[in-house]
Amino acid sequence: MFEKILIANRGEIALRVIRAAREMGIKSVAVHSTADADAMHVRMADEAICIGPPPSTDSYLSIPAIISACEITGAQAIHPGYGFLSENANFVQIVEDHGITFIGPTAEHIRIMGDKITAKDTMKALGVPCVPGSDGGVPTLADAKRVGAEIGYPVIVKATAGGGGRGMKVAMTAADMESAFMTARSESKAAFGNDEVYIEKYLTTPRHIEIQVFGDGKGRAVHLGERDCSLQRRHQKVFEEAPGPVITAEERARIGKVCADAVAKINYIGAGTIEFLYEKGEFYFIEMNTRLQVEHPVTEAIFGVDLVREQIRVAEGLPMSFTQEDLTINGHAIEVRINAEKLPNFAPCPGRITQYHAPGGLGVRIDSALYDGYRIPPYYDSLIGKLIVHGRDRPEALARLARALGELIVDGVDTTIPLFHALLQEEDVQTGNYNIHWLEHWLKTHLPA
Ligand code: ADP
Repeated sequence: MFEKILIANRGEIALRVIRAAREMGIKSVAVHSTADADAMHVRMADEAICIGPPPSTDSYLSIPAIISACEITGAQAIHPGYGFLSENANFVQIVEDHGITFIGPTAEHIRIMGDKITAKDTMKALGVPCVPGSDGGVPTLADAKRVGAEIGYPVIVKATAGGGGRGMKVAMTAADMESAFMTARSESKAAFGNDEVYIEKYLTTPRHIEIQVFGDGKGRAVHLGERDCSLQRRHQKVFEEAPGPVITAEERARIGKVCADAVAKINYIGAGTIEFLYEKGEFYFIEMNTRLQVEHPVTEAIFGVDLVREQIRVAEGLPMSFTQEDLTINGHAIEVRINAEKLPNFAPCPGRITQYHAPGGLGVRIDSALYDGYRIPPYYDSLIGKLIVHGRDRPEALARLARALGELIVDGVDTTIPLFHALLQEEDVQTGNYNIHWLEHWLKTHLPA
């Protein structure tokens, strides 16, 4: 059993991990930059250690600083949260080389899934359905034009090293290919230091459906159904729900089994998410995330499991605490992401919180590192909290979300709370009638920038 783990992250996800550790009787070590000396994760952990100045490259992304923090505090394992170093195979290798356990998948699996072309090839070989597209990377514009003509427009040019919705450009017709190809490449070079791109058929009205998987690293794996994360702005999720409003029990069982079998076959360990676009009853793999997702609480709500606890268990070599048969869905859950951003442009809005009141009551969970008087630093992500509601069915979850949003008070900075009040008035949101383009379209007409 681990006695002490270090959390290489900040904000709500660091708290999330500290909470699971405490329930398991494990001590937690928080790391922080000088800008986060007053942060909630620092206050809540058993120990805290400063790892550098505000810029994340010098603190939360500094591998030597994090390894030193482990050695100084005697932490036996590292939980990476999401973002930062969570999908950095090199980091995982260094952690293991220092005799510290990484709470997450192996460096090899992270490497495979971090390269989207290799990920697609691997998934295809494991029997997972993929979006039709180029066979690997597309090196020149002439190749891109040939692939476009072969698979048929519209197509999307995507960065092999991509993430966070960056390095992706759509070509509606052959005439758009040159600019889409060049822009995707240069964006990718700038963001990821790698300009390799590939091409996929662009699906025009899909939903984003992702399957939560979990493996024990010894050939056993389960799935925990799907989340529908179709409400997106600039390819970033803002509202997520489980189960998906249009996915049938038969579809869930079928694609869930395909995913669980695939990760079992490669001895995958820990939590993972296999992302699909879903259109006209078909699933098309787009990528796998080898970490805990921001939206994991909706899955926890409907299955009544603690995914972080399971991550820590399997990292220690213990078995998962459930089998596929134990996992049954109870009700419906929705998460909204509360960002410190000013509408209508979603401009980051750091600053001091003058008043904070969290909602409560049956079926309400808030994962947030806010407190009265907290000063949101300008250096990091603008996510300041997640509101998660759980009801017996979708209408109850929606009513509960409206009620809880009404109780939530965040004063002092602008937030995305008004966006969710407005979205809940929409019939399409009430009925679950949306796809990955719905929100962008709605924003154009309702919140013109
Ligand atoms: P990232 O790693 O940057 O998040 P993904 O490959 O997961 O990139 O894609 C993010 C989002 O981009 C998807 O949820 C979807 O909205 C859109 N997208 C990606 N591929 C396609 C495609 N082939 N057709 C239509 N939309 C796509």
